[in-house]
Amino acid sequence: MNINIAKTKNYYNAISESDLCDCSYCRIFRQQIKSSYPNISTYLDSLGIDIEKPFETSPLEPDENGKILYCACQYVVFGNCEREYAHKIGEVSFRAATSYPDTGIKDTHFVLEFFPVELEFR
Ligand SMILES: [Zn+2]
Repeated sequence: MNINIAKTKNYYNAISESDLCDCSYCRIFRQQIKSSYPNISTYLDSLGIDIEKPFETSPLEPDENGKILYCACQYVVFGNCEREYAHKIGEVSFRAATSYPDTGIKDTHFVLEFFPVELEFR
C-alpha cells in the first residue's frame, strides 16, 4: 500500500456532519463504531481515515437479538493499494474493495473495506 496520508486526512477533514447520510443505520454506525472497535479506529487513523465518515456501509436487517451486522464498511483512501493487500484485526478483515458506487474522485485513490462488524440496534 502506498497511501497519501496527508491528502486522505484533508479529505476526511473536509467532510462535515451535513454531508453524511442521516439514515438510522449510518447514525448507529457513527455513534458506535469507534467505541465498539477501538483497534480498527486506531488502524484507520494511522492511514489518515476517519472511521466515523465511511463512504458506504452495507448493513443487514437487525436480528432477533437487536444486533446489526455490517457486511462491508468502505472508505476512500488516496494512493494505491496492491490487489493482494490483506489485513486482519481480531475477526475483522481488511481488503481493497472491488465493488462500490462511483466515488466521483479523479485523483488516484482506492476504496478500503473491512468486514464484518456488529453493532447494537438502538
Ligand atoms: Zn445511511
